[in-house]
Amino acid sequence: KTLEERVKSVIRDVQDFPKPGILFKDITPILLHPSLLQEMITAMADQFKDVKVDAVAGIESRGYLFGVLLAQKLQVPFIMIRKEGKLPAKTIKESYDLEYGSATIEVHEDAIAEGSHVLIHDDLLATGGTAVAAAKLIQQKGNVAGFSFVIDLTFLEGSKKLKEIQPIIKSLIT
Ligand code: IMP
Repeated sequence: KTLEERVKSVIRDVQDFPKPGILFKDITPILLHPSLLQEMITAMADQFKDVKVDAVAGIESRGYLFGVLLAQKLQVPFIMIRKEGKLPAKTIKESYDLEYGSATIEVHEDAIAEGSHVLIHDDLLATGGTAVAAAKLIQQKGNVAGFSFVIDLTFLEGSKKLKEIQPIIKSLIT
């Protein structure tokens, strides 16, 4: 079986989580398979072998799981993008609209080198709202090198929004 098929076979579909009518893709079983995880990180790093990447920024919290391993594989720094109020030192912020209300994400100001090329990583791309906000946050100090996801829910067409920011968008599975 291909890597994609094996990853798909361990991702669990959970009906009606976190709300009725939503089919949630649960990636936590991947973490129970260390050799599969290792193969995934190698494949994800390979997707960016011809791209200038100075750092990987992971989006809280599942974006940290693969993001830090991806950064380690690429031998570049890892940057934590967090929800507002969690980071202790001086931060820069970006707010974005949700279905109901809004949210703010932030990053330590000194974590992004001025003008550097930062790869944005999250576990899953849905509508793209979260990744767009992360991109705008990074662009306050640096450039977006690309976007990396484990899963792209392509029917939601999130990548259409991201393309305008940076067309290098990779996912392991769709
Ligand atoms: P978006 O902003 O609509 O693209 O939603 C993406 C964000 O929501 C990411 O941070 C994902 O971790 C999270 N997310 C949305 N749907 C799922 C899912 O089915 N499984 C896991 N995470 C999800």
